[in-house]
Amino acid sequence: MERKFVCIRCPQGCEITTTLNGNGAITEITGNSCRIGADFVKAELTDARRTLTTTVRVSGGTRPLCPVWTEKPVPKDKVLDLAAQLRTITLNAPVSAGQIIIKNAAGTGINIVASAPVMAPGGK
Ligand code: SF4
Repeated sequence: MERKFVCIRCPQGCEITTTLNGNGAITEITGNSCRIGADFVKAELTDARRTLTTTVRVSGGTRPLCPVWTEKPVPKDKVLDLAAQLRTITLNAPVSAGQIIIKNAAGTGINIVASAPVMAPGGK
């Protein structure tokens, strides 16, 4: 059986084809321009993960949105649920860079943190 992937580890976006045997083990990887692509498809087949970056509403801040991200890549199947959860949150300014927005997000053991500050009016 063949499975096709587009490597997202660099802008080149290599189209990679993997061949799997009847046990699901990889027997061949083609199309990758470097070793990172092979590592990428192996991870996609066993433990696909993504870093989620988005914004969260802020009340009383100098900006209406605060950029946030997962401290580490989270399981791919958790990303949409986490994004939906973040859409329900409104933070109160000030928000500091690195501030934990959701601890142990969706039970992954990974925190979602602010990646930039949002000041309150007056610079606090
Ligand atoms: S296989 Fe290597 S060169 Fe190709 S997209 Fe992935 S990281 Fe980039």
